[in-house]
Amino acid sequence: MRYAESVLDTIGNTPLVKLTRVTEGIAATVLAKVEFFNPGGSVKDRIATAMIDEAEKSGKLKPGGTIVEPTSGNTGVGLALVAQQRGYRCIFVCPDKVAEDKRATLRAYGAEVVVTPTAVAPDSPESYYGVSDRIVAETPGAFKPNQFFNPAGPAAHYASTGPEIWRDTEGKVTHFVAGIGTGGTISGTSRFLKEASDRNVRVIGADPLGSIYSGGTGRPYLVEGVGEDMWPDAYTPDLVDEVIAIDDAESFAMTRRLAREEGLLVGGSSGMAVAAALKAAKNLPADAVVVVLLPDSGRGYLQKVYSDAWMRSLGFAGPDGDTTVRDVLA
Ligand code: PMP
Repeated sequence: MRYAESVLDTIGNTPLVKLTRVTEGIAATVLAKVEFFNPGGSVKDRIATAMIDEAEKSGKLKPGGTIVEPTSGNTGVGLALVAQQRGYRCIFVCPDKVAEDKRATLRAYGAEVVVTPTAVAPDSPESYYGVSDRIVAETPGAFKPNQFFNPAGPAAHYASTGPEIWRDTEGKVTHFVAGIGTGGTISGTSRFLKEASDRNVRVIGADPLGSIYSGGTGRPYLVEGVGEDMWPDAYTPDLVDEVIAIDDAESFAMTRRLAREEGLLVGGSSGMAVAAALKAAKNLPADAVVVVLLPDSGRGYLQKVYSDAWMRSLGFAGPDGDTTVRDVLA
Protein backbone atom coordinates (compact mmCIF):
# COMPACT_ATOMS: atom_id res chain seq x y z
CA MET A 1 0.00 0.00 0.00
CA ARG A 2 1.21 3.48 -0.80
CA TYR A 3 -0.01 6.20 1.53
CA ALA A 4 1.19 9.10 3.65
CA GLU A 5 1.40 8.52 7.41
CA SER A 6 0.10 12.06 7.94
CA VAL A 7 -0.96 14.94 5.74
CA LEU A 8 2.32 16.61 6.78
CA ASP A 9 4.23 14.01 4.77
CA THR A 10 2.64 15.40 1.60
CA ILE A 11 4.33 18.80 1.99
CA GLY A 12 6.90 19.57 -0.72
CA ASN A 13 7.87 17.69 -3.88
CA THR A 14 5.62 20.00 -5.87
CA PRO A 15 5.70 19.61 -9.67
CA LEU A 16 7.39 21.71 -12.33
CA VAL A 17 4.91 22.59 -15.07
CA LYS A 18 6.08 23.99 -18.40
CA LEU A 19 4.47 27.28 -19.41
CA THR A 20 3.47 27.12 -23.07
CA ARG A 21 1.06 29.99 -23.86
CA VAL A 22 2.27 33.02 -21.94
CA THR A 23 5.79 32.26 -23.19
CA GLU A 24 5.02 33.02 -26.82
CA GLY A 25 8.12 34.38 -28.58
CA ILE A 26 10.48 33.11 -25.86
CA ALA A 27 13.11 30.53 -26.83
CA ALA A 28 14.05 29.42 -23.31
CA THR A 29 12.15 26.74 -21.37
CA VAL A 30 10.12 28.34 -18.56
CA LEU A 31 9.02 25.94 -15.81
CA ALA A 32 6.60 26.89 -13.03
CA LYS A 33 7.10 25.30 -9.61
CA VAL A 34 3.50 25.10 -8.49
CA GLU A 35 3.27 25.42 -4.71
CA PHE A 36 -0.52 25.22 -4.42
CA PHE A 37 -0.02 21.45 -4.50
CA ASN A 38 1.03 21.65 -0.85
CA PRO A 39 -1.77 20.48 1.52
CA GLY A 40 -2.30 23.94 3.04
CA GLY A 41 -2.37 25.39 -0.47
CA SER A 42 0.87 27.36 -0.43
CA VAL A 43 4.66 27.40 -0.24
CA LYS A 44 4.33 28.40 3.43
CA ASP A 45 3.62 24.82 4.54
CA ARG A 46 7.34 24.23 4.09
CA ILE A 47 8.46 26.90 6.55
CA ALA A 48 5.66 26.16 9.03
CA THR A 49 6.96 22.62 9.44
CA ALA A 50 10.56 23.79 9.62
CA MET A 51 9.91 26.55 12.20
CA ILE A 52 7.97 24.16 14.45
CA ASP A 53 10.58 21.38 14.09
CA GLU A 54 13.31 23.81 15.09
CA ALA A 55 11.33 25.17 18.05
CA GLU A 56 10.70 21.64 19.31
CA LYS A 57 14.39 20.75 18.97
CA SER A 58 15.62 23.87 20.73
CA GLY A 59 13.02 23.57 23.49
CA LYS A 60 11.19 26.82 22.63
CA LEU A 61 8.05 24.80 22.03
CA LYS A 62 7.08 22.07 24.50
CA PRO A 63 4.26 19.51 24.37
CA GLY A 64 0.94 21.27 24.93
CA GLY A 65 2.44 24.65 23.99
CA THR A 66 0.71 27.47 22.13
CA ILE A 67 1.81 28.96 18.81
CA VAL A 68 1.05 32.69 18.48
CA GLU A 69 1.72 34.61 15.26
CA PRO A 70 0.45 37.88 13.80
CA THR A 71 -0.62 36.53 10.41
CA SER A 72 -3.77 35.96 8.46
CA GLY A 73 -2.36 34.48 5.34
CA ASN A 74 -0.62 31.41 4.08
CA THR A 75 1.81 31.10 7.00
CA GLY A 76 -1.18 30.90 9.33
CA VAL A 77 -2.69 28.03 7.38
CA GLY A 78 0.63 26.16 7.36
CA LEU A 79 1.15 26.70 11.09
CA ALA A 80 -2.47 25.73 11.89
CA LEU A 81 -2.09 22.52 9.93
CA VAL A 82 1.19 21.49 11.55
CA ALA A 83 0.09 22.61 15.04
CA GLN A 84 -3.11 20.60 14.84
CA GLN A 85 -1.28 17.46 13.74
CA ARG A 86 1.19 17.81 16.60
CA GLY A 87 -1.28 18.79 19.32
CA TYR A 88 -0.42 22.48 19.80
CA ARG A 89 -2.90 25.27 20.37
CA CYS A 90 -2.73 28.03 17.77
CA ILE A 91 -3.69 31.69 18.15
CA PHE A 92 -3.47 34.06 15.18
CA VAL A 93 -3.83 37.79 15.44
CA CYS A 94 -4.98 39.67 12.38
CA PRO A 95 -6.34 43.14 11.61
CA ASP A 96 -10.05 43.54 10.87
CA LYS A 97 -9.35 44.42 7.21
CA VAL A 98 -8.51 40.76 6.61
CA ALA A 99 -11.29 39.04 4.69
CA GLU A 100 -13.65 36.93 6.81
CA ASP A 101 -12.96 33.96 4.50
CA LYS A 102 -9.32 33.95 5.54
CA ARG A 103 -10.20 34.00 9.25
CA ALA A 104 -12.74 31.24 8.65
CA THR A 105 -10.07 29.11 6.98
CA LEU A 106 -7.83 29.37 10.05
CA ARG A 107 -10.73 28.52 12.39
CA ALA A 108 -11.66 25.55 10.20
CA TYR A 109 -8.28 24.01 11.06
CA GLY A 110 -9.06 24.53 14.76
CA ALA A 111 -7.03 27.71 15.28
CA GLU A 112 -8.24 30.66 17.36
CA VAL A 113 -8.32 34.04 15.64
CA VAL A 114 -8.08 37.35 17.50
CA VAL A 115 -9.16 40.34 15.41
CA THR A 116 -7.64 43.77 16.05
CA PRO A 117 -8.61 47.20 14.67
CA THR A 118 -6.79 48.23 11.46
CA ALA A 119 -7.04 51.95 12.15
CA VAL A 120 -4.40 52.15 14.91
CA ALA A 121 -0.67 52.99 14.80
CA PRO A 122 1.67 49.96 14.38
CA ASP A 123 3.25 50.67 17.80
CA SER A 124 -0.12 50.92 19.56
CA PRO A 125 -0.85 48.18 22.14
CA GLU A 126 -4.05 47.55 20.17
CA SER A 127 -2.22 46.90 16.88
CA TYR A 128 -1.89 43.32 15.81
CA TYR A 129 1.78 43.26 16.72
CA GLY A 130 0.97 44.74 20.14
CA VAL A 131 -1.83 42.28 20.81
CA SER A 132 0.21 39.27 19.71
CA ASP A 133 3.08 40.33 22.03
CA ARG A 134 0.62 40.60 24.92
CA ILE A 135 -0.84 37.15 24.22
CA VAL A 136 2.69 35.68 24.12
CA ALA A 137 3.54 37.34 27.46
CA GLU A 138 0.32 36.18 29.11
CA THR A 139 0.18 32.61 27.77
CA PRO A 140 2.34 29.98 29.50
CA GLY A 141 4.25 27.88 26.94
CA ALA A 142 3.69 30.38 24.13
CA PHE A 143 5.97 30.39 21.11
CA LYS A 144 6.04 33.03 18.36
CA PRO A 145 7.59 31.71 15.12
CA ASN A 146 8.22 35.26 13.81
CA GLN A 147 8.61 34.27 10.16
CA PHE A 148 10.36 37.48 9.07
CA PHE A 149 13.24 36.87 11.46
CA ASN A 150 13.31 33.08 11.82
CA PRO A 151 16.32 31.42 10.09
CA ALA A 152 14.36 28.14 9.88
CA GLY A 153 12.38 29.75 7.01
CA PRO A 154 15.21 30.13 4.49
CA ALA A 155 16.72 26.89 5.84
CA ALA A 156 13.53 25.04 4.82
CA HIS A 157 13.98 26.20 1.23
CA TYR A 158 17.67 25.30 1.28
CA ALA A 159 16.68 21.81 2.41
CA SER A 160 13.68 21.21 0.16
CA THR A 161 12.77 23.74 -2.58
CA GLY A 162 16.34 24.08 -3.91
CA PRO A 163 17.14 20.34 -4.02
CA GLU A 164 13.77 19.57 -5.66
CA ILE A 165 14.44 22.05 -8.48
CA TRP A 166 17.97 20.74 -8.97
CA ARG A 167 16.74 17.11 -9.01
CA ASP A 168 13.74 17.69 -11.29
CA THR A 169 15.71 19.71 -13.87
CA GLU A 170 18.60 17.21 -13.66
CA GLY A 171 20.89 20.12 -12.86
CA LYS A 172 19.90 21.99 -16.05
CA VAL A 173 18.27 24.98 -14.33
CA THR A 174 20.02 28.20 -15.39
CA HIS A 175 17.76 30.86 -13.81
CA PHE A 176 15.52 30.93 -10.73
CA VAL A 177 12.84 33.59 -10.26
CA ALA A 178 10.74 34.17 -7.12
CA GLY A 179 8.83 36.98 -5.46
CA ILE A 180 10.26 38.44 -2.24
CA GLY A 181 8.07 38.69 0.86
CA THR A 182 10.01 37.63 3.95
CA GLY A 183 12.74 36.73 1.44
CA GLY A 184 12.94 33.19 2.79
CA THR A 185 11.99 31.43 -0.44
CA ILE A 186 14.46 33.22 -2.67
CA SER A 187 17.35 33.26 -0.16
CA GLY A 188 17.20 29.59 0.85
CA THR A 189 16.56 28.29 -2.66
CA SER A 190 19.27 30.50 -4.12
CA ARG A 191 21.85 29.37 -1.58
CA PHE A 192 21.27 25.75 -2.56
CA LEU A 193 21.16 26.32 -6.33
CA LYS A 194 24.27 28.51 -6.33
CA GLU A 195 26.21 25.92 -4.32
CA ALA A 196 25.01 23.05 -6.52
CA SER A 197 25.80 24.88 -9.79
CA ASP A 198 29.14 26.41 -8.78
CA ARG A 199 27.37 29.80 -8.77
CA ASN A 200 26.16 29.41 -12.36
CA VAL A 201 22.44 29.69 -11.63
CA ARG A 202 21.30 33.31 -11.90
CA VAL A 203 18.72 34.31 -9.28
CA ILE A 204 16.16 37.01 -9.98
CA GLY A 205 13.78 38.53 -7.45
CA ALA A 206 10.34 39.85 -8.38
CA ASP A 207 9.06 42.76 -6.33
CA PRO A 208 5.95 44.94 -6.42
CA LEU A 209 6.73 48.40 -7.76
CA GLY A 210 7.08 50.67 -4.71
CA SER A 211 8.55 48.04 -2.35
CA ILE A 212 12.04 48.58 -0.94
CA TYR A 213 13.57 45.42 -2.41
CA SER A 214 13.51 47.04 -5.84
CA GLY A 215 14.52 50.46 -4.57
CA GLY A 216 11.09 51.85 -3.65
CA THR A 217 10.05 53.65 -0.50
CA GLY A 218 7.49 51.14 0.73
CA ARG A 219 4.74 52.88 -1.21
CA PRO A 220 1.54 50.76 -1.15
CA TYR A 221 0.60 48.21 -3.79
CA LEU A 222 -2.17 45.67 -3.98
CA VAL A 223 -0.45 42.38 -4.73
CA GLU A 224 -0.44 40.31 -1.50
CA GLY A 225 2.33 38.41 0.26
CA VAL A 226 5.29 40.14 -1.36
CA GLY A 227 7.21 43.40 -1.03
CA GLU A 228 8.19 45.13 2.19
CA ASP A 229 8.85 48.47 3.81
CA MET A 230 11.55 47.07 6.15
CA TRP A 231 14.49 44.63 5.76
CA PRO A 232 13.76 41.23 7.35
CA ASP A 233 16.51 38.81 8.46
CA ALA A 234 15.01 36.05 6.32
CA TYR A 235 16.23 37.91 3.21
CA THR A 236 19.89 37.79 2.10
CA PRO A 237 20.28 40.34 -0.74
CA ASP A 238 23.75 39.00 -1.67
CA LEU A 239 22.11 35.79 -2.90
CA VAL A 240 19.97 37.67 -5.42
CA ASP A 241 21.60 38.87 -8.66
CA GLU A 242 18.84 41.21 -9.81
CA VAL A 243 15.43 42.43 -8.63
CA ILE A 244 12.77 43.30 -11.20
CA ALA A 245 9.89 45.61 -10.17
CA ILE A 246 6.45 44.75 -11.54
CA ASP A 247 3.43 47.01 -11.10
CA ASP A 248 0.03 45.77 -9.91
CA ALA A 249 -1.57 46.07 -13.34
CA GLU A 250 0.98 43.78 -14.94
CA SER A 251 0.96 41.33 -12.00
CA PHE A 252 -2.82 41.02 -12.09
CA ALA A 253 -3.04 40.77 -15.89
CA MET A 254 -0.50 37.93 -15.88
CA THR A 255 -2.26 36.22 -12.94
CA ARG A 256 -5.48 36.08 -14.96
CA ARG A 257 -3.66 34.82 -18.04
CA LEU A 258 -2.13 31.98 -16.03
CA ALA A 259 -5.64 30.80 -15.05
CA ARG A 260 -7.18 31.25 -18.51
CA GLU A 261 -4.32 30.10 -20.70
CA GLU A 262 -2.19 27.76 -18.61
CA GLY A 263 -4.92 26.28 -16.35
CA LEU A 264 -3.06 27.51 -13.28
CA LEU A 265 -5.44 29.27 -10.86
CA VAL A 266 -2.85 31.13 -8.78
CA GLY A 267 -2.57 34.24 -6.59
CA GLY A 268 -1.35 37.69 -7.63
CA SER A 269 2.22 37.15 -6.46
CA SER A 270 2.45 34.25 -8.92
CA GLY A 271 1.47 36.54 -11.79
CA MET A 272 4.07 39.01 -10.58
CA ALA A 273 6.79 36.33 -10.51
CA VAL A 274 5.90 35.06 -13.98
CA ALA A 275 5.88 38.61 -15.39
CA ALA A 276 9.44 39.03 -14.04
CA ALA A 277 10.48 35.58 -15.32
CA LEU A 278 9.30 36.43 -18.84
CA LYS A 279 11.24 39.71 -18.80
CA ALA A 280 14.34 37.80 -17.68
CA ALA A 281 13.78 35.05 -20.27
CA LYS A 282 13.12 37.34 -23.23
CA ASN A 283 16.60 37.31 -24.72
CA LEU A 284 17.82 33.97 -23.40
CA PRO A 285 18.85 31.15 -25.75
CA ALA A 286 16.86 27.95 -26.28
CA ASP A 287 19.00 25.92 -23.88
CA ALA A 288 18.22 28.21 -20.90
CA VAL A 289 15.95 26.71 -18.24
CA VAL A 290 14.11 29.29 -16.14
CA VAL A 291 12.30 28.05 -13.03
CA VAL A 292 9.72 30.42 -11.54
CA LEU A 293 8.02 29.71 -8.22
CA LEU A 294 4.24 30.20 -7.92
CA PRO A 295 3.52 30.59 -4.16
CA ASP A 296 -0.21 29.98 -3.80
CA SER A 297 -3.63 29.20 -5.26
CA GLY A 298 -6.07 31.70 -6.71
CA ARG A 299 -8.99 30.33 -4.67
CA GLY A 300 -8.40 32.92 -1.96
CA TYR A 301 -8.59 35.80 -4.45
CA LEU A 302 -11.82 35.13 -6.36
CA GLN A 303 -13.34 38.35 -5.02
CA LYS A 304 -10.20 40.29 -5.91
CA VAL A 305 -7.95 39.72 -8.93
CA TYR A 306 -10.44 37.27 -10.50
CA SER A 307 -13.41 39.63 -10.06
CA ASP A 308 -14.03 41.93 -13.02
CA ALA A 309 -15.91 44.35 -10.75
CA TRP A 310 -13.00 44.57 -8.30
CA MET A 311 -10.49 45.05 -11.09
CA ARG A 312 -12.57 47.81 -12.68
CA SER A 313 -13.26 49.53 -9.36
CA LEU A 314 -9.51 50.02 -8.97
CA GLY A 315 -9.01 51.20 -12.53
CA PHE A 316 -7.57 47.94 -13.84
CA ALA A 317 -8.78 46.76 -17.20
CA GLY A 318 -11.05 43.72 -17.47
CA PRO A 319 -9.79 40.38 -18.78
CA ASP A 320 -9.77 41.36 -22.43
CA GLY A 321 -8.75 44.99 -22.11
CA ASP A 322 -5.27 46.38 -22.13
CA THR A 323 -3.42 46.66 -18.86
CA THR A 324 -2.62 50.35 -18.75
CA VAL A 325 -4.32 51.82 -15.71
CA ARG A 326 -4.50 55.05 -13.87
CA ASP A 327 -2.22 54.92 -10.87
CA VAL A 328 -4.83 54.37 -8.18
CA LEU A 329 -2.33 54.30 -5.35
CA ALA A 330 -0.30 57.39 -6.09
N1 PMP B 1 3.48 35.10 -2.29
C1 PMP B 1 2.60 34.88 -1.31
C2 PMP B 1 1.15 34.78 -1.64
C3 PMP B 1 3.04 34.78 0.02
O1 PMP B 1 2.16 34.55 1.01
C4 PMP B 1 4.43 34.89 0.29
C5 PMP B 1 4.90 34.82 1.69
N2 PMP B 1 4.82 36.06 2.39
C6 PMP B 1 5.31 35.13 -0.78
C7 PMP B 1 4.80 35.22 -2.05
C8 PMP B 1 6.79 35.39 -0.57
O2 PMP B 1 7.53 34.35 -0.01
P1 PMP B 1 8.71 34.67 1.01
O3 PMP B 1 8.08 35.18 2.28
O4 PMP B 1 9.39 33.36 1.20
O5 PMP B 1 9.61 35.68 0.41
